[in-house]
Amino acid sequence: MSKVLVIAEHDGETLNLSTSKTVACALTLEPEAIDVAVFADAGNKPAQAAARLNGVTRVLLVEHVANQNPVAAVLAPQISALARDYTHVLAPATTFGKDVLPRAAALLGVPQVSDVMRVIDRNVFERPIYAGNAVETVETPPGIVVATVRTASFKAVPESGSAPVEKISLDFDCPTHTRFLRVESSSGGRPDLQSARVVVSGGRGLGTKENFDLIYALADRLGAAVGASRAAVDAGLVPNDLQVGQTGKIIAPEFYLAFGISGAIQHLAGIKDAGTIVAVNKDPDAPIFEVADIGLVADLFDVLPALIEALSKG
Ligand code: FAD
Repeated sequence: MSKVLVIAEHDGETLNLSTSKTVACALTLEPEAIDVAVFADAGNKPAQAAARLNGVTRVLLVEHVANQNPVAAVLAPQISALARDYTHVLAPATTFGKDVLPRAAALLGVPQVSDVMRVIDRNVFERPIYAGNAVETVETPPGIVVATVRTASFKAVPESGSAPVEKISLDFDCPTHTRFLRVESSSGGRPDLQSARVVVSGGRGLGTKENFDLIYALADRLGAAVGASRAAVDAGLVPNDLQVGQTGKIIAPEFYLAFGISGAIQHLAGIKDAGTIVAVNKDPDAPIFEVADIGLVADLFDVLPALIEALSKG
């Protein structure tokens, strides 16, 4: 039988939705137990949130002053110390999981499976390749399975559980070669792009950094996260952590609003699992209209101010 360790993603206060989706993936392994590890310096809130996730057997709260910030070099030795009691170690394939888990796999001496989108059996998984245009089936060698989970492929689990929270201390060598200095975040307090319900995205059609403020303004009216195409990133309109697509973030919001984005295949690879896609583009032949549920052929400089004004009136 499988025993799964899920690595929680959180900010010290709130449990990221990606953790719930990783638990959903773990459940498809039909394991005998799913434990969620919360690494924090004082992590009671995220631990309590993890305890409510259906299917979780135990929450392991590892409190250590070095766990105040999710530094991969610090978390990996702790994960590898815990992992030896498990058949599987899973983390979301978010920036956090992609940073931390390969190090843990290296310490455990096993390969990592990236972007699991479906579990076939305890050692066989499906994952996307070629920008999501093909699906590869991979089999892991004997030993602990370490894998990141493509959160867009799993729905969050209900939250009516009440798993026990156990505080544990780990004997590990805290590395001295890497230490946390500061976080530079461009989110401006907006929701996290990879777990937001609504995402407003802008492309090269916005033209300038100043014009991109229209995207931020609409996102703020909607309580949405902001995304962008690679062309918008390359043109310097936005920082690259907003990029959606094959070489950016893979997202699955309920609503995706795309302004001035043509719909290149590499961009669409990032929004395959989005719910309703709304596209505004002045070119009626833009490929984005082939995937959009609602398409508006119009100038975004007419549509965006009108939308912002309408929403401002409440
Ligand atoms: P464009 O293709 O230039 O489209 C701009 C659109 O804006 C046009 O459709 C135009 O009609 C419209 N427009 C212009 N003005 C207005 C206006 N006033 N009102 C309304 N509409 C207007 N791209 C990504 O997005 N994400 C990735 O992760 C990614 N990875 C890549 C990886 C590789 C290996 C490669 C080769 C490419 C990758 N790309 C990626 C780039 C991708 O191929 C496209 O070049 C990019 O997505 C285009 O961005 P865009 O739609 O903003 O720009």
